Amino acid sequence: MRVRLALWALLLLGLAQIGISILIYLAISGWLEDQVNRSLLLTASQVAGILYDPDDPRSSLDIADVRRQLANDDITSLSFLREQGFFVRLVDMVNARVVAASADYAIPAPHGQMSQPTFETVNVHQANGTSESRLYTLPLDYAPGLALQVGVSLRDVREIQGDMARVLGVLLLFTAVSTPLSGWFLANRALTPVRAAVATAAEINASDLSQRLDIGAAEVELEQLVRTFNAMLERIEQAFRRQRQFTADAAHELRTPLSIMLTGLEVTLSRERSAAEYQTTLASVQEEVQRLAHLANSLLMLARADTRDVPLEMHDVDLWALLDTVIDQLAARANEKSISVTREIAPDLIVRGDEARLIQVVYNLLDNALKYTPAGGSVRVTAARHADHIEFAVQDSGPGIPAAEHPHIFERFYRADAARSRGHGGFGLGLAIAKQGIELHGGTITVISEAGQGARFVVNLPARV
Ligand code: ADP
Repeated sequence: MRVRLALWALLLLGLAQIGISILIYLAISGWLEDQVNRSLLLTASQVAGILYDPDDPRSSLDIADVRRQLANDDITSLSFLREQGFFVRLVDMVNARVVAASADYAIPAPHGQMSQPTFETVNVHQANGTSESRLYTLPLDYAPGLALQVGVSLRDVREIQGDMARVLGVLLLFTAVSTPLSGWFLANRALTPVRAAVATAAEINASDLSQRLDIGAAEVELEQLVRTFNAMLERIEQAFRRQRQFTADAAHELRTPLSIMLTGLEVTLSRERSAAEYQTTLASVQEEVQRLAHLANSLLMLARADTRDVPLEMHDVDLWALLDTVIDQLAARANEKSISVTREIAPDLIVRGDEARLIQVVYNLLDNALKYTPAGGSVRVTAARHADHIEFAVQDSGPGIPAAEHPHIFERFYRADAARSRGHGGFGLGLAIAKQGIELHGGTITVISEAGQGARFVVNLPARV
């Protein structure tokens, strides 16, 4: 990343500086050329004025005089030309001939009719080498065929341009060296907190998830990342804790029936027993094995759904028929405790879902309602369609659940009153399985209850699409 940032900085700054350098160079060169052109124009009109005065009727272009003046034989008004580095000549454009010149320049005379003044840059070959000159040709309208040419060497201009190119080149070189270095330096600085975070993150492992990245040391831009990472660690730590708790609870639940069985078997086998005694022991072992089988099934169901091993088999499920099935299964239990089960179910309520899982959910809710409601109580099952969901509820007249327990009752292995619940044969997995089943269907399950007021479990399922 540091190398990439350094290279990007070099590329972008380099391109910008090359562009700016070219612009500066072109602007100053243009301005210099403009200055040269201006001075040529001015000189030409000055010279033209000296050679010939159109307002003086006696005046005429005297070639001999022009020659003399340009040759600087006498002290003339044109002597300033040489001092300022200009050269002037009079050319005959018809014959391409130099008529008079202030110096002998090896520039061919222009040929042909030219009516407009022109500027051009020409190479002047002289004994001491070739140099460039800027030449202004001014056709004289009072002397047809003749033109005045004023030129000046561009040596100074070229020197300035050369200096300018050198300065800009040195600046460019400086940028080429300093930009990647400063890019590297800045990237290094900016990445220091990231490296610190990476070092801390590398120390975090499954056995100690309590460490967090230091938010105080993070730059504002990194703060969000650090916060997100810490939040993720928090969730992972909680998940690990839950997992550990789950394993410990599961082991505990397995151990209890196993030790009951072991003790029962040991006592029974300690001496010769009658057939009836063996039968009693085997019956109690059978009961415990049934509990274990039930526990194993529940755990397997939770684990499979957690890992999404078994996909839901989605069908249209008739809620009325589904309730019939569950109530039939539990009718004996309700009768035993003389609990009246009533239904208020809107007709033709169709839910899209996995029938087996939905039966499991309804069974667990009704099973709890029958389990915890004292004999002679009542259980009411309602189901109705709303705008975008189907609400299904199981209400009982039992002891209810204190508000403080509401957040926990859906947790795995949670039993509000362990002693009471175990007496009922529960492992604290029924509601966890119900919640998981509902959530797999994209629904929610909540409890409305207060101690002593009965409990109402409300399930919301998305309406059939
Ligand atoms: P369990 O197998 O112990 O019934 P659940 O997960 O089904 O486990 O329920 C968790 C706890 O919620 C139970 O231990 C019980 O205390 C409480 N609970 C569940 N349903 C009811 C209910 N209808 N009335 C009162 N308490 C309930």
